[in-house]
Amino acid sequence: MMKKYLAALVLFLASNSVFSQDLMDKNYTPPIGIPMVLAANFGELRPNHFHMGVDFKTNGRIGYNLYSIADGYVSRIKVSPYGYGKVIYIDHPNGKTSVYAHCSEFKGAIDSIVRISQYADENYEVEIFPKPHEISVKKGDIIALSGNTGSSTAPHLHFEIRETLSEDALNPLVYGFDLDDHQKPDIRNMKIVAISKDGYQIPGKSIVVPVYGSNGKYTIRNNTIDIPADFCSPTGGIGLAFDIIDKLDGAPNQCGLYGTDLIVDGDTIFGQQTDRISFEHTRYVNSHRDMNSPGKYHKSYRTLHNPLAIYKRDGLGVIALKPGETKSIALNVYDPKGNESQLNFAINVQQGSLNADFAPSPSNYLYPQDSLQKKYDNWSIQAEAFSIYEPVKQSHSSTAHFCDASIDLQKPVVIRMKLENPTLPVKNYYIAVFDGRKYRALTTVYEDGWLCAESKYAGTYSTKTDVQAPSVRGVSYNSSYIVTGNTIKLTIKEDETSLADYDLFIDGKWHLMEYESKGDFLIYERPEGLMGEHAIKIIASDVCGNEVIYERTLNFK
Ligand SMILES: [Zn+2]
Repeated sequence: MMKKYLAALVLFLASNSVFSQDLMDKNYTPPIGIPMVLAANFGELRPNHFHMGVDFKTNGRIGYNLYSIADGYVSRIKVSPYGYGKVIYIDHPNGKTSVYAHCSEFKGAIDSIVRISQYADENYEVEIFPKPHEISVKKGDIIALSGNTGSSTAPHLHFEIRETLSEDALNPLVYGFDLDDHQKPDIRNMKIVAISKDGYQIPGKSIVVPVYGSNGKYTIRNNTIDIPADFCSPTGGIGLAFDIIDKLDGAPNQCGLYGTDLIVDGDTIFGQQTDRISFEHTRYVNSHRDMNSPGKYHKSYRTLHNPLAIYKRDGLGVIALKPGETKSIALNVYDPKGNESQLNFAINVQQGSLNADFAPSPSNYLYPQDSLQKKYDNWSIQAEAFSIYEPVKQSHSSTAHFCDASIDLQKPVVIRMKLENPTLPVKNYYIAVFDGRKYRALTTVYEDGWLCAESKYAGTYSTKTDVQAPSVRGVSYNSSYIVTGNTIKLTIKEDETSLADYDLFIDGKWHLMEYESKGDFLIYERPEGLMGEHAIKIIASDVCGNEVIYERTLNFK
């Protein structure tokens, strides 16, 4: 095992010489002052992205000190109610950037610069790029407190190491963080999928095969599976996908897969090693995972145009089969500490004739490399090349739609819908996409009689209106409007579209108010020394320009 791992490492170094000098930086200090226990690791399969860092557990609480892992300077700070929430980026002399996300508050010079910027812009949401060395930090400096801001669903530290130049996310467990791990990866299930020579799935052709075993040794029932000859195509073959999880010491959390090698009749034909992922490619998780299963199936094959850098070989991993043939298959799975598991079995193809090729006609199928432009009287669509991952059958109709709602998109498509005889101001109209379960409002602009929006969702598009302003309700004071605490909390609801702006004025002066999107909360701190009666005014608007003005006189005690 060690030899193979080294070989992979040497290959990796040779192909990435720019940053090879400090592949393993052992000099980092932990970003958190409690034992480093992972809730999630690098490369886990998430909706529309890979997990680009590691999640450190914080005992279900917020407020732990966060430390800069090395000397450097703050290169970026962002505050947002979505995504990473309050996040700090620090550039280090070794060409890496460390990222600390979902913070509850910033410390020191970082906190000051953010506040100055928020008051200057009169906006809670800011993004700042301090000049090199404007905010220098030393290894171990306290930069923030851990939190749960942005899209985080429980308190934790989302931590990343990026290559500064490319901004690619690197696996922290490979690039400097050596966490205890004595547990072997767990191979739970397998899927056999009929695929074309280009790695495209032949619709409706897949078999789920339960995997048995533990502690590094796995197989399937009778060690063999028989598949009918007509299951696969003569020019393509089959691909295998595996549901694999890995655990580390100290927590029961199911983390993701690091490395695999797929060996067919003694030849290694495919493998992945999750060392780096670019943000440009992270959405290709939709192509890497088995698209027809909600579980954590990693394909051990890929499509022709999948550009992810996690694959160790050029081949697509297509296993060609002949009737009556038996193939012996081994899958090796390993984690960054070298804990290894192996699945062994045989595939036996029954006698008969192989099924027809999967070669959908370009006249009625859209291929991933194709762009698309269609114009109808009442709507139009524009899709760039590589907007989809698999060939998709096209249907033509006067109903605005693109593919089936279950199809994932790599790039947004541009949808235009004619707005005929509007009875409301045009700003009240927007395009919505029905994703099979609910309508999602798209950010829409109006141009010469047409509504125009970009959609990251396939499905059916329609024109809707929003005339309802957001609603605001105070929760930290009673009906006599007496405030005793230091933090004032309100709820804000926007049902139809989304919140565009929110501002708080105390006695006519703008005051910082935070917005927590996941709980629909507005929160602000009582200005120091504020006592007695004061006029509170909140103005909030949605993306269709519907505005609410909430005014109260509060009695601060
Ligand atoms: Zn995370």
